[in-house]
Amino acid sequence: MARRRQLYEGKAKILFEGPEPGTLVQYFKDDATAGNGAKHGIITGKGVLNNRISEYIMLRLQDIGIPTHFIRRINMREQLIREVEIIPLEIVVRNIAAGSIAKRLGIPEGTRLPRSIVEYYYKNDALNDPMVAEEHITAFGWACTHDMDDMVAMALRVNDFLTGLFAGVGISLVDFKLEFGRLWEGEEMKIILADEISPDNCRLWDSKTSEKLDKDRFRRDMGQVEEAYQEVARRLGILPEAGNGDLKGSETMQ
Ligand code: 5GP
Repeated sequence: MARRRQLYEGKAKILFEGPEPGTLVQYFKDDATAGNGAKHGIITGKGVLNNRISEYIMLRLQDIGIPTHFIRRINMREQLIREVEIIPLEIVVRNIAAGSIAKRLGIPEGTRLPRSIVEYYYKNDALNDPMVAEEHITAFGWACTHDMDDMVAMALRVNDFLTGLFAGVGISLVDFKLEFGRLWEGEEMKIILADEISPDNCRLWDSKTSEKLDKDRFRRDMGQVEEAYQEVARRLGILPEAGNGDLKGSETMQ
């Protein structure tokens, strides 16, 4: 198959030129990294599952009026997206203490936070994505106050909606990371949700057992990573109950 022109390769995804101006093709790899690339592995079928899970979530978010870069899924590993200018920030929303907040503030993992907490990180691999305050973001011009208000409002709506969506299938949404981009329509700029939403960038715990169903299984060498991602997809009704089909995924199969 004739390949499209590659524009960017990240740790878990590749971006290709899209079929029309203003579009890109986002390809989901099976590669997994942790600790800013210090640890690398392949989780067979992860790309196929994340493509499906992220498609499902982005469509549900569009249904409630959240603008996203997602246009449509093309095949098992690729989706068509709108080209945006990525804002160099990671917006993290937390409901339960885990990961870096548990470590940084000495809060036992699993403690419910007094309210949802929004944090900002500067997207910069060389600096290990440091946490920043709105002061840094506006002073260095990564986003203005109005952009921040838009992103925080969307992040909190996404949190409310996804908390309910996952609760409905017996999963606690512990925390997640979002990225946003600027979409220009003539002189008008609007901020839309970009990247992906999947077990790679959410912490998802079984509501009853607190079993981890996300990338922490890879980060912490717990094993059964693919099975955990499959379980999330199965509970969301994306995977048929019996089996997962060909998760290695030929690139163009639907
Ligand atoms: P923490 O700050 O506790 O490491 O991560 C908080 C949440 O954001 C977790 O759900 C984690 O998966 C997500 N997250 C934070 N930074 C990154 C990142 O650079 N890549 C990915 N895939 N997820 C991230």
